[in-house]
Amino acid sequence: MLRWAEFIQGTDMRYLIVSDIHGNLAAFDAVLSAAPEHDQVLCLGDVVGYGPDPHECIHRLKALPHAGVAGNHDWAVLGKLNLEDFNADAQTAARWTQEQVSPEDLAFLSQLPDRLTAGDFTIAHGSPRHPIWEYILQTSTARANFAHFETPFCLVGHTHVPMIYALQDDRPNPRCRTFTPSEEIVLDLANAPRMIINPGSVGQPRDGSPLAAYAVLDTDAQTLSFHRQEYPVGETQRRMGELSLPARLIARLSFGW
Ligand code: ZN
Repeated sequence: MLRWAEFIQGTDMRYLIVSDIHGNLAAFDAVLSAAPEHDQVLCLGDVVGYGPDPHECIHRLKALPHAGVAGNHDWAVLGKLNLEDFNADAQTAARWTQEQVSPEDLAFLSQLPDRLTAGDFTIAHGSPRHPIWEYILQTSTARANFAHFETPFCLVGHTHVPMIYALQDDRPNPRCRTFTPSEEIVLDLANAPRMIINPGSVGQPRDGSPLAAYAVLDTDAQTLSFHRQEYPVGETQRRMGELSLPARLIARLSFGW
């Protein structure tokens, strides 16, 4: 297995960046099939929670060369967070997920760090300031978070909305600009400002598109590209229905909301 340490040593590689898979195996498999050739998978947390195939998603990720961090739903399944802090549907899904995962699955989730720093990137599920829980949904939140990591770039997930926050370095009051990534945008990291980058969610997109979202980092070309992938949403919904998972969680996948 390729280790995260190779990144630190500066080996040029291609990374498939995925976040918030949320037990949606049909979406994860579609992304793995469609993604350009890559050397390693970087997972930004929440492998489980919401979706019908938590064990299979962990199994799939474990079998690939990968590195990753823990998300709030991973911690919920581990019992490291109070489920009362989750909304009713998320609580139901978390309790159901706790019954599905094996001791090996729990061991995998429990070894995930809450934050990783390597090469030019810091990786956290929510934010570098509060890795497990903070949502970066506003420019002001993003701007405050630039003081909490040292590297040029930070990768986050958690909101399920693809977004780029770029720091405009006109001190003493640096401004932060927001961009919505699209498949037409390829970031040139060699000439980029400091950025917090969210690739969006594989398993439960919330930006109005039901397509699975992911990104590809090429450390040789120094580029980062954004991608969307169709997957059999109805297949995931059918499985969730059979398992009596909450209706609202099933319905939202059709709309990406
Ligand atoms: Zn999530």
